[in-house]
Amino acid sequence: MSVSPETELAALRTELTALQAYPEEKLEEIIAEVGFSCTCCGRCCTRVFNGHVFLLSADTERLRRFAPEMLMPAPDFPYSDSLENFYVSGYALRTKQNGDCVFFSEERKCTIYEDRFSICRIYPYMLHCEPDSRGHVDWRQISGLDEHGEYDTVIPPTETAQTAAAVIAYETAYLEQEIAFHEAVIAKFSQENIRFVRRDHDRRTREFLKGDVPAVVYVWDGKTFSREEAVPAEYR
Ligand code: SF4
Ligand code: SF4
Repeated sequence: MSVSPETELAALRTELTALQAYPEEKLEEIIAEVGFSCTCCGRCCTRVFNGHVFLLSADTERLRRFAPEMLMPAPDFPYSDSLENFYVSGYALRTKQNGDCVFFSEERKCTIYEDRFSICRIYPYMLHCEPDSRGHVDWRQISGLDEHGEYDTVIPPTETAQTAAAVIAYETAYLEQEIAFHEAVIAKFSQENIRFVRRDHDRRTREFLKGDVPAVVYVWDGKTFSREEAVPAEYR
């Protein structure tokens, strides 16, 4: 559900402040205590397990140099205007028809492992405030805990420190990208005298997802909005 860009911007700024105050050593302790070990099953590179691979602006810039056709506006466009244009904070990786990442091979291996993207490098670690099944909001540090991989592995302190620093750097860059996007949306809407109406946006989103007509999406690329087209079939 999309709230107004102003409300969302305030929440993002609060989250960034909380993230900056989060003690890195606490994250290191949690990483050591959980002892997650990847079994290389490859499920995280498929849509069945993860909705989409969201790209930071630096990832997008890099991918543009070697496979620009693999970029698509990231799903779940949060805003739109009265001309039926959508807005979103970044790009995602395309998937194959079967839902696998385009860089995931038949042998279930990443074909660009050394050049994989920011989120692929930290997964399954994260540092988000999210509600649990009972609605209690707290920090979450591992995505899909107990649903994949192995646990209770001994991880050397140097590795826990590197992982914690990488996770905090990723989450900071992610929130900064979201904040810059929201500031740009608010400025654009104000300059063009556009009012965001959630009810209209929800209707446009439903029509886009049900229909066959591509939608114009303005995607934040870190500096400005790029005008793209989104094909409904890729978002269902
Ligand atoms: S880029 Fe590689 S690691 Fe990242 S989702 Fe695709 S196949 Fe997996
Ligand atoms: S991170 Fe998890 S889902 Fe991804 S390959 Fe490793 S064990 Fe499988």
